[in-house]
Amino acid sequence: MDVRRTAVVKLIISDEPRDALHRTSDQFLYCANRTSEYCWSNTSYTECKTNKREVRDALYAELRAETELPAQLVQAAIRRAVEAVKSVVERWKKKQRVSQPTFTAETMDYDTRSATFYRNNVSLATVEGRVEPSFILPADSPTPYERYVLSEDYEFRESTLRYDATTDEFYLHVSTRRVNDEDAEASTDTGHSDQTVLGIDLGVNSLAVSSTGTFWKGDDYDHWCREFEKRRGEMQKRATQAGHNALLRLGKREEAWRKQYIHTVANELVSEAIDYGCDVIVFEDLTDIRERLPHATWHHIWAFRRLFEYVEYKAPEQGVFVEQVEPNYTSQRCSRMDCGFTHEDNRDGEHFECQKCGYEVNADYNAAKNIGVRYARKQIHRLRSSPTSESGDARVDVRLNGGTLSGESHQPIAGD
Ligand SMILES: [Zn+2]
Repeated sequence: MDVRRTAVVKLIISDEPRDALHRTSDQFLYCANRTSEYCWSNTSYTECKTNKREVRDALYAELRAETELPAQLVQAAIRRAVEAVKSVVERWKKKQRVSQPTFTAETMDYDTRSATFYRNNVSLATVEGRVEPSFILPADSPTPYERYVLSEDYEFRESTLRYDATTDEFYLHVSTRRVNDEDAEASTDTGHSDQTVLGIDLGVNSLAVSSTGTFWKGDDYDHWCREFEKRRGEMQKRATQAGHNALLRLGKREEAWRKQYIHTVANELVSEAIDYGCDVIVFEDLTDIRERLPHATWHHIWAFRRLFEYVEYKAPEQGVFVEQVEPNYTSQRCSRMDCGFTHEDNRDGEHFECQKCGYEVNADYNAAKNIGVRYARKQIHRLRSSPTSESGDARVDVRLNGGTLSGESHQPIAGD
């Protein structure tokens, strides 16, 4: 089992190094956007450039000359952009709506050379040389940081620096991997043998539903979003300065409330995975969620993206990793093990009834099982086809309420 951990630490940083980090991330974004520009073609995906080495050879010297970024950060920005273009090309091949990737969020990727960790501080490369902020460790002890970042059993892989504009703080998401372990030796980036999967469906009827049959209805979320909206509508009629200020305060309160709500759901989701002994939580890819759920409000879309994001950084701290699968047909397919019949008539709103075998079940729960199954099937296929893998008999099962579905014996999903 390939064990990875992510620790999130908040940086304590004075004004001068703070400016240096902002200037560095500006230039990082510049490089990423320039690379995206270079790789992109509006004409056809076959004309998009996705070979990392070729792109780096073409752009590296230029970007070094145009910016003050250290070598590793220029390379990291190029890598980030090529990865993004690659995944857009994948969607383009499937005839999904695409556009050139652009980078606006203040985040940067650090590797072992550009970031060095010490007990209470970290040294980060910037456009003004190294800065060495200290950080706040989480209150619980032993902290994930001490356990996973400083421990010799874990090797530091990479970290992502994120600036959170709402709190005006920098956070470092540090990713490590277990070493000195026979299992870890044998495993590769693709090899996680014997896994138990928790599938999650996100939707409008229920905010989230797991393959274990737990529903996060989100009724109070919808209710409060509507309440806030109403209050906002009333306030907007008052065009005074005081009214304007009250509106801003309301907006902040609402944002804080929504974040808190989603944090709670994210924690419960991670607990669900742990309670059921799951190694991986699987979501649908959210890229085209707006098109797929035309009835979703911006509150829903916001909640889906946040929920995924929170789980993605909370789960690894508990030894659970997070994956995404293509969402195609997961809501139309019968999740019964021996069936798998896929048809749009199977689903009617919240109700699922298989037109072939007659299986009746909540539609979102059915989709959650299929999301788990899709991942399990892919994973088994990957493990078995890897020539170096010793995981020929690896099991990947989807956890249900009171049992599992074997990814193996399952009928394929259209589009797999
Ligand atoms: Zn069926």
